[in-house]
Amino acid sequence: MAEKTISEIAKLCADCGTCQSACPVYQAELTEPNSPRGKVNLAKALADGRLAPNPRNRSLLYQCLVCGGCEHACPQGVEFNAMMIEQRNRTSGGRSIPWLKKAALFLYQGFILRRVLWLPRLLARTPLKRRLSLPAFQNADLKMIAGGDREKEYDVLLFPGCVFTYFYPHKTVEIKALLEGLGLSVLYPEGLQCCGFPYLSQGWGEKFAKLKDKNEAVFRRFRFRQIVVPCSTGVLAFRKYYDLPGTEILELSEFLYKHCPQAAVDPSWAERLPGPFTYHDPCHNLKSLKLRKEARHFLERFGDRFRDDDSGLCCGFGGIFKVGFPAVSKKILNKKAAKLDELGVSAVVTSCPGCYLQLKENLDVPVYFFSDIFKRQVKSEK
Ligand code: SF4
Ligand code: SF4
Repeated sequence: MAEKTISEIAKLCADCGTCQSACPVYQAELTEPNSPRGKVNLAKALADGRLAPNPRNRSLLYQCLVCGGCEHACPQGVEFNAMMIEQRNRTSGGRSIPWLKKAALFLYQGFILRRVLWLPRLLARTPLKRRLSLPAFQNADLKMIAGGDREKEYDVLLFPGCVFTYFYPHKTVEIKALLEGLGLSVLYPEGLQCCGFPYLSQGWGEKFAKLKDKNEAVFRRFRFRQIVVPCSTGVLAFRKYYDLPGTEILELSEFLYKHCPQAAVDPSWAERLPGPFTYHDPCHNLKSLKLRKEARHFLERFGDRFRDDDSGLCCGFGGIFKVGFPAVSKKILNKKAAKLDELGVSAVVTSCPGCYLQLKENLDVPVYFFSDIFKRQVKSEK
């Protein structure tokens, strides 16, 4: 850990329990070991050597989405995510990650990145589809839009992340077109890998470091002003764990709010819906990057077609969390679904590829990505 040790972070905890109401896992399970406070005490005991790692406490260590909810709520400023990631790396180092989670990581970032798509496509037709959270695959040839000119300075580098590269590649095509329609020069270079956060958050620092090195090598080949990532988890990874001095890294809604606030939404998109829609705040947007007003700046232009959900409820995906703890994930998702029923909405918009996958594959209402609400091919001032 670069700045503080686990013990230094943990000793800030005042045992107040404020974090419990913000924790989707605690709210699903209602046991103290599953609370953020319980995990702070566990991480501290493991770090101090008062407790030796065993299957029970390893499992507890992984019963956390690293969603940032507790960190956001904590009055003491306990840096929970950094502590959890460090403790998982110490306790596990990737070796003790359960086989199913490893299989999912392998599928998401290993096989898939090497273009061996037949295996996940095959598995997506089996009962393992749900267990591994595999979506229906969409076809889009990203080679058609990939590439870059080393002599040119681009406005933005688009980093779509692995879900929008391999599961929903048409979203990468659409987001690039949206940004270009706003008058921006957009670089989508070949050779980008997953940001690596799924490995890092699971305690597999070595794998993360390899992906980081490969991405940084691609970044160094080109000139661009900003990196735009339609995924707040990727933004967190780049800001906190990459070496990108002087580069502005922005999540998509944050970028549009800051640099293209006049970007026009498409009223006909909402008119085609059977009723009002809402927005699902991804945990890392709301709780880690503190992005709330950015998406709403655009969503509120739809008037009363937009019904705000200010619950901040998690969708239960958490990347690999869902694979490891499907029952807990389901309870968390059910709460979200109940909230959507209560709001009486007929569609959901979100701005995280992971939430998009989770909601799209599991809800009965249509799910859209944030970029879908904008007019296509409309030139506006940057
Ligand atoms: S809110 Fe912060 S200080 Fe209070 S119990 Fe949770 S981690 Fe500890
Ligand atoms: S990061 Fe999220 S899931 Fe993990 S303990 Fe904190 S609030 Fe709970």
